[in-house]
Amino acid sequence: MESSSKKRDIAQRIDALIEELQEHSHRYYVLSQPTVSDAEYDEKFRELQTLEEAHPELVRADSPTQRVGASPLAGFATVRHKLPMLSLDNAMNEQELVNFDEQVRRFLSKDGHTADEVEYTVEFKFDGVAVSLVYENGVLVQGATRGDGTTGEDVTSNIKTIKAIPLKLRSPKSHSGHIEIRGEVIFKKKEFEALNAERQSRGEETFANPRNAASGSLRQLDPRETARRPLHFFSYGLGFLEGAVGLSQRTLSQTMHDVEKLGFSISPGFRTVKGPEALAQAYREAEEARESLPFEVDGIVVKVNDLSLQERLGFRQRSPRWAIAAKFKPVEAVTTLEDIIIQVGRTGALTPVAVLKPVRVGGVVVSRATLHNQDEIERKGLLIGDRVVVRRQGDVIPAVVAPLTASRTGDEKPFKFPTKCPECETPVERIADEAVTRCPNASCPAKTHNRILHYASRDAMDIEGLGDKMVGLLLEHDLVSSLPDIYELTVEKLQALPRMGELSSANLVAAIQESKNRPLSRFIFALGVRHVGTKTAAVIARQCQTVQTFLHLTESDLLSMEEIGPETARSVSMFLADESEQAVVKRMLSLGVNPEPEAAPAKGGVFEGKTFVLTGTLTTLSRKEAEEIVTSHGGKVSSSVSKKTSYVVAGDSPGSKLDAARKHGVPILSEDEFRSMVG
Ligand code: NAD
Repeated sequence: MESSSKKRDIAQRIDALIEELQEHSHRYYVLSQPTVSDAEYDEKFRELQTLEEAHPELVRADSPTQRVGASPLAGFATVRHKLPMLSLDNAMNEQELVNFDEQVRRFLSKDGHTADEVEYTVEFKFDGVAVSLVYENGVLVQGATRGDGTTGEDVTSNIKTIKAIPLKLRSPKSHSGHIEIRGEVIFKKKEFEALNAERQSRGEETFANPRNAASGSLRQLDPRETARRPLHFFSYGLGFLEGAVGLSQRTLSQTMHDVEKLGFSISPGFRTVKGPEALAQAYREAEEARESLPFEVDGIVVKVNDLSLQERLGFRQRSPRWAIAAKFKPVEAVTTLEDIIIQVGRTGALTPVAVLKPVRVGGVVVSRATLHNQDEIERKGLLIGDRVVVRRQGDVIPAVVAPLTASRTGDEKPFKFPTKCPECETPVERIADEAVTRCPNASCPAKTHNRILHYASRDAMDIEGLGDKMVGLLLEHDLVSSLPDIYELTVEKLQALPRMGELSSANLVAAIQESKNRPLSRFIFALGVRHVGTKTAAVIARQCQTVQTFLHLTESDLLSMEEIGPETARSVSMFLADESEQAVVKRMLSLGVNPEPEAAPAKGGVFEGKTFVLTGTLTTLSRKEAEEIVTSHGGKVSSSVSKKTSYVVAGDSPGSKLDAARKHGVPILSEDEFRSMVG
């Protein structure tokens, strides 16, 4: 038996959770200004659900687990939905999605249904605002938000400004009767960014994400304002029907194709799958496709396809039993922007970096995020002390998306961009038309530090032992003050450094000496010219063959090289025109650096004229090795698949490029097949 004091604690916790979730719901649904991330909200919601399941007697009627959304905003007329617009139950991962299938089958088997595998529709879960559109005899007569599920806001005039919503249904067959279309009004990512930039420039509050932008835009009291916002609409189903003809009543997938014929967009990649394995696979694929979509999705929605089975499964309090939203890993979190610091890179660029209160996003703790440049801070309207939305996806560097202006206390402070380099105090420069502010001092220690680090890095000269700490030590003890100095280091000099023994000193000197004869392409990349990555360096090296030719390249020489664009050509020629850079290279040559000429392009190689795209994780080769195999046999490597691609080499867990290959009919090679082509 639970003690009465424990029970009191639980009741108190439930009350506290309800109060907190209600406040968040109000900010989210009504004001479109949330102050916590969805993941934080979901976590608290789950906690409340779990407590309520264990203590059904403590469930309050006003608990967010018992209701949908929030009450409509005052200012709009209200609309009563003929059929309630419900929420969806959530699966937080693949396993919970598989459990959903099991629950569906268990429920149906109690009801005498014995099918082994259930068929489901799979579509994206759009992150926007749910709306109901009512057509009478083919004409749009009403548009309403979901509101609290029973009563929504009448936003008909605003809805009519959305171009993706037909004012008149297309298919003549269904022009009679009452048809309710349901779906989501969304804001696309690019347009969201443009809207925020514009609002920022006018000194208006920005939206934290496209969902809030969609919700805020749709619920404007002045439809002319809504008309200015590029809203989009995707349909995901039907609501109340009366006297409608020509709509399939058998499966949801057929219904959705009918809905398309009426003139609506449905989820890209809408499909049906059978059984738990295929469900899990569809979930994984959708998560991988997520970032490449032009709009935000936060999961997939899985629904039982057979409408008669849907009917048997029925509804719970706030969600259907025949559907589930399988959410993707959260990529956003909310935290505090504690400070902004400046880092000076190898090209002297001053990069502002956000110092964040550590927060978990997509499975890792994030405490720093780049803010790119001064304009970006201004564009986003960030103040030090702001609560901010932080986003991290896959391997992408974490980014600060937007401040939550609704959480401001008045203590936040604007950031002042420094006028002097924080490392060497030289006044900084900003070239007109460029977003970047630079330290012009050629011997700025921060620049030298990062320059040596880049020079010694794996893809560049690959000097083992010359890492961040070591470079710091060398600079601190005045053993180097510019890049070529590393070639004058001796065992004796290094041994004088703290914690450097004879052996480690000898090893470092040997590694530095060994780097003298690396291929020219690595040397060019190692110089750290802006816009010159490993691929561009390889193109230039192949054309030049020797350092001397490289040092005399002109902008037009560069422009005549295939694959080199005007920006890169200008950057390289500016680098070569810089006397101090020429002096750096010449000094290195005089100290014995002698890059090896590049292997000539493999004329007549087996891959001549062929373009390869690599996708997925290669297991027997590194990506770099695979690229070298292609180029050394005369082929080219490209990053995207098109009709012109000759082959796609697919490793483990290949991404959307594989789909693109299938779409364009490009042959797909396994790693083994690829290797066997070159013996
Ligand atoms: P939901 O977002 O979990 O799912 C139901 C909704 O999904 C439907 O009403 C519909 O609008 C939408 N949907 C999108 N694509 C769909 C598709 N293909 N098929 C069917 N429906 C589709 O439900 P909810 O009740 O609107 O919101 C709860 C969620 O809102 C929470 O999980 C939380 O993430 C978020 N929330 C956040 C805060 C906050 O402060 N950050 C506050 C409240 C709610």
